This record gives sequence, C-alpha cells and structure tokens, in this order.
Amino acid sequence: MRTVHVGTGRPYDIDIERGLLDKAGEYAKRLSDAKRVVLVTDTNVAPLYQQRILHSLSACGFEATTHVFRAGEESKHLGTIAEMYNTFADFGMTRRDLVVALGGGVCGDMAGFAAASYLRGIDFMQVPTSLLAQVDSSVGGKTGVDLPQGKNLVGAFHQPVAVLIDPDTLKTLPDFYKADGMAEVVKYGCIKDASFFTFLEHGDAAVHIEDVIEICVSVKRDVVNLDECERGGERILLNFGHTLGHAIEKLRHYSGISHGMAVAVGMVMMAKAGEARGITEPGTAGRIAALCQKYALPTSEQFSFAELANAARSDKKTAGDVIRPVLLRRIGDSFTQTVPIEEFESFITTED
Ligand code: MG
Repeated sequence: MRTVHVGTGRPYDIDIERGLLDKAGEYAKRLSDAKRVVLVTDTNVAPLYQQRILHSLSACGFEATTHVFRAGEESKHLGTIAEMYNTFADFGMTRRDLVVALGGGVCGDMAGFAAASYLRGIDFMQVPTSLLAQVDSSVGGKTGVDLPQGKNLVGAFHQPVAVLIDPDTLKTLPDFYKADGMAEVVKYGCIKDASFFTFLEHGDAAVHIEDVIEICVSVKRDVVNLDECERGGERILLNFGHTLGHAIEKLRHYSGISHGMAVAVGMVMMAKAGEARGITEPGTAGRIAALCQKYALPTSEQFSFAELANAARSDKKTAGDVIRPVLLRRIGDSFTQTVPIEEFESFITTED
C-alpha cells in the first residue's frame, strides 16, 4: 500500500493499491458514521465495478444504492446533478451519510459537487478509475459541473474523506483514455520533477504505474497544500499547457480531441514560445514533444496563432486584461508570467 497524505483544512489520505475496490466498505466504516451510502457511477463503469463496491459496502453493514448516469462529458450538466439529488432524497440520505464517486473525472466532479451542495455538504469518497482521474482530477478537492456557457462554471471546493486508487482498473481503460491521462503525467514532470521526466523518457510508465501515480499525486498534493483554494499562487502551475489546451478544446467544440491531447499540444507550443523568447532552455520543447509522441499524444494543431489567442482570451481563468501562461525555465522548473491580452498572440507565435 502506498499512501499520500493530503494536509488540507480537512486532511485525508490517497491510498494506492491493487484490489482496493474491494475495501471501499472498510474505508467507509473507518472514516464516516454513515448509515446509508449512494454509489454514483456511469454507464461505462457500472457494469465493470459497481457490484464489487456494493458488495464491500453491504458486507460492512451499510445500506447502499447506486445512481448511474449516462457516461460522457455531455452528461456534465445541472440536470444530471438534479437527478443525483433526487436519488439522495428518495433514499433518505442525511447529513451523516456518504456518497462514493466511482469513475473518471466527470463522475468525480459531479458526484463531488452533488455531495458538496446536498444538505449544504455531506461526505464523499473518491474511487477514480481512469488514469486522468487517478493522477489529477480526484486530488485537490475541486468539484463542479458545466453550464451551456462554459466548462466547470459552477462548483465548489470539497475535499473527499479518502481517495482509493486501484491501478487494476486501468486494465479496462481504452488506449484513448490512457493517452489522455499521460498528458497530465508528463505535465507533472515538466513543472516540478526533472528526474521523473527523465524516468518517463527512459522507462515505460505502464510497467511502473504505481510509482507513476504516487509521484504525480504527491506533486499535485504539494502544490495544492500551498494553495488549497486556488487564490492565484502555486496551484496555477498545474495549468501548464492548459491555456492553449483549453483554447484548442474550445476551437474543436470539445469533440474529436481529449483534454489530455489538447494539453499535450499546449505544453509543446508554450515551451516553443518560451524558447523563442529566451525564457526556456533550448531543446526543452523537443524533449516534451518526443515524450508526448512516445505516449501516443499529438504535438501540433492546425489552428493559427490568432485563432488560439482569441480562444484563450475567453477562458474563465483569464482574469481581466492579462493572460498568465505557465512557462518553463527548464524541465522541472516552472513559473507564471503575466502577458497583456493584446500581446498574447505575438507571445505564442513561433517560426514553425
Ligand atoms: Mg487538466
């Protein structure tokens, strides 16, 4: 068992172990005084794992039921949250009861938000089953839901009572989603850990997946500890590749490209921009591109610099007249720079 302790206002542990799904009931027993548990999951994950969790919960004496929503980012809207509230209320959930989120990032974000807001906040436990959720979205306490106007516009910071990571769930994850998660893995090396980046260059992440998850979660924990509610400090470094990544997702209308694929392109472009301005050590963009290719991620896009700059301008993280892209001095050493919005296009423009 590997444990990463998160010392946020309300501390909790992230435990990583094969077969951990079968211990969900024991965790719930130890960490909560719930009588009832609603397991929230989606139509892809439910057939694979819901019985094991339910069995574990009922073996530990909980009254448990499942709320299943249709898998996919299209479900990430307030209507799905309202359906979760209905299940909670019909099942008689009280403030001491518990929600378990079993699935990828969409599931964790929405079940977490439903738990954060139902009865002004009840406990929830994260059981992430995708690589992206295991290394990124299940850590840090961000929960939320999309509006027609944009992604994650409604949400809350709500820390789970525990995060249970069972790497065996990755065996059933399609390659497309493995690559999606690997972009965030590469990102952690870029922003904070040069030796981890080198390890990814020379080794095979899949063979050492427990190490990979533990390192990524630890980096994210360290960053989140310094800036729990994203007041503009350290946590912004997690957005490396995301300013342009979000722009690409937006220009593609969130279809045909995963979040990770867009972030991979964003990381390479921002490293190139940094090199062109003499900020980033020469050769950095080439190393990031090679590593992304190794893990089946794209490194370039068809959109013009003007189109990308325009799309970045309307990002919700753009506060006022400036954009604050994350840049690298070298692999493992990141910082943010304030760029006036009207200069952003020329800032990202490079020769190739
Ligand atoms: Mg991301």
